Amino acid sequence: MDICPKCGLPTAACVCDQIAKTQQRIEVKTEKRRFGKFSTMVSGFDDGVDIKEIAKRLKEKRACGGTIKNKIIELQGNHKGHIKPILVELGFNEEQINE
Ligand SMILES: [Zn+2]
Repeated sequence: MDICPKCGLPTAACVCDQIAKTQQRIEVKTEKRRFGKFSTMVSGFDDGVDIKEIAKRLKEKRACGGTIKNKIIELQGNHKGHIKPILVELGFNEEQINE
């Protein structure tokens, strides 16, 4: 059985990840790239959350490509207005997402 190093509970019972998610202050920005293409940057994640999993879910929901650089999720295309509801669904705090 795995034990969470933060709270000492079995990982199955641990809610550290959920708590961490509600405390993140997330920033969503779009940037115009070459040839008129857009990128959507989602930043503000810290080590308490599984950024890879979040990136995977965002890419699935928005059917787009994307990468993670320096804890910033960069999605291909302009997804402004669509990121917040997905993050809220994943357990983030709506009031702490600046989109
Ligand atoms: Zn824990």
